[in-house]
Amino acid sequence: SPFEGSCCGSSYVSSESSLEVAKYRVVLLGETGVGKSSLVNQFMTSEYINTYDASLDDEFGEKSVSVLLDGEESEVIFIDHPAHEMSVENCLSTYDPHACIIVYSITDKGSFKKGEDIITYLWRENYTKEKAVILVGNKVDLARSRLVNTTEGKSLARNHDCKFIETSSGIQHNVDELLVGVVKQVRLRLAAQRK
Ligand code: GDP
Ligand code: MG
Repeated sequence: SPFEGSCCGSSYVSSESSLEVAKYRVVLLGETGVGKSSLVNQFMTSEYINTYDASLDDEFGEKSVSVLLDGEESEVIFIDHPAHEMSVENCLSTYDPHACIIVYSITDKGSFKKGEDIITYLWRENYTKEKAVILVGNKVDLARSRLVNTTEGKSLARNHDCKFIETSSGIQHNVDELLVGVVKQVRLRLAAQRK
């Protein structure tokens, strides 16, 4: 029990730290126009979001929310800088994120190539072993304009130890699933590190 030994004002470190909410930093990466900011905006409307105070939004694209999942609360900070303002390398060293979401558009081959470059970089730096890395093919509502097959995204992710999901922030397809997946992946990695 988290309250064990906490009567009469005795202060075990374990009982105090269990009251602290874990903070997860999640960075969004990928070509401009693929839907990163749209995805983050859709996350804000998710039923898994406990509290979200828009007045705290950072002007450079940081949003902090409280996520309640599997009876556990976590604070998740989504970091969504415009791609041209910060290199991937700089972003990783600045934020030391727990998770990276790499987004491309299924209607844009160039954005998939950019995603491939980012994943290859993360993989070479051993990032995909230690952190949660999720490849996202967005804009699946534009099925008739599709230029990147599901299998291409799937195999790129599989070959680099990443998770993969196709979404549409436009029609809210798999957006909750992505949010839940990110939080679960971060928790799994943190639990593995504690062992
Ligand atoms: P970012 O540059 O990666 O942050 O991309 P934005 O979120 O600003 O989106 C770029 C454009 O794509 C905007 O016009 C969005 O409305 C549009 N967009 C984003 N997600 C989707 C989607 O899932 N489907 C469609 N059809 N359009 C989308
Ligand atoms: Mg944006």
